[in-house]
Amino acid sequence: MSTTPTTPATPTPPTSPTTPTPPATPTPPATPTPPTSPAVPAGACCRDCAVAGARTLDTEPAARRLQVRRPEDAVGVVAPLLAQRDREHCALLALDRKHRRLALLIVSVGTADHTFMRPREIYRDALLAGASAVVVAHNHPSGDCTPSADDRQVTRRIAEGGELLGVELLDHLVVGDAHQWTSLARLGVC
Ligand SMILES: [Zn+2]
Repeated sequence: MSTTPTTPATPTPPTSPTTPTPPATPTPPATPTPPTSPAVPAGACCRDCAVAGARTLDTEPAARRLQVRRPEDAVGVVAPLLAQRDREHCALLALDRKHRRLALLIVSVGTADHTFMRPREIYRDALLAGASAVVVAHNHPSGDCTPSADDRQVTRRIAEGGELLGVELLDHLVVGDAHQWTSLARLGVC
């Protein structure tokens, strides 16, 4: 226990009554705030998903865009987007007729173990991107990239939906982490 007497706080000098308060500068209404640090809007799960809906459109000339010839090509872009998530995310890689990348986006977000990949949402975004083919992917927060029975079943449903719409499902990837993934196409499911 301290016996040092407490120093009384320095009194705040009174505001001079003769000093006028400067008027507040009005904010120009037409100047938008630069999106340097986007906040997470309601309904978005994380910052990455919040950035323009986690949507990246490829604006490169066609010849320079990523062309998906094998699962590894798609893994290279979707695994960094999906790895280390604590909830399941469904990503869509929209491709043109030559399987060149048109867009990469997060379609939906699930809970830790909830199925959330619905053909309706996948093909809505695919058609909006003008896709002729797609690769879908989702992550397993556990890190185990073994596809579940539900993953196989939903893959078939997504493939069937794509057939009706004329959008080919090239693959469904299950991402455990950046180095652990499974291609359902290689397993013969789609
Ligand atoms: Zn799964």
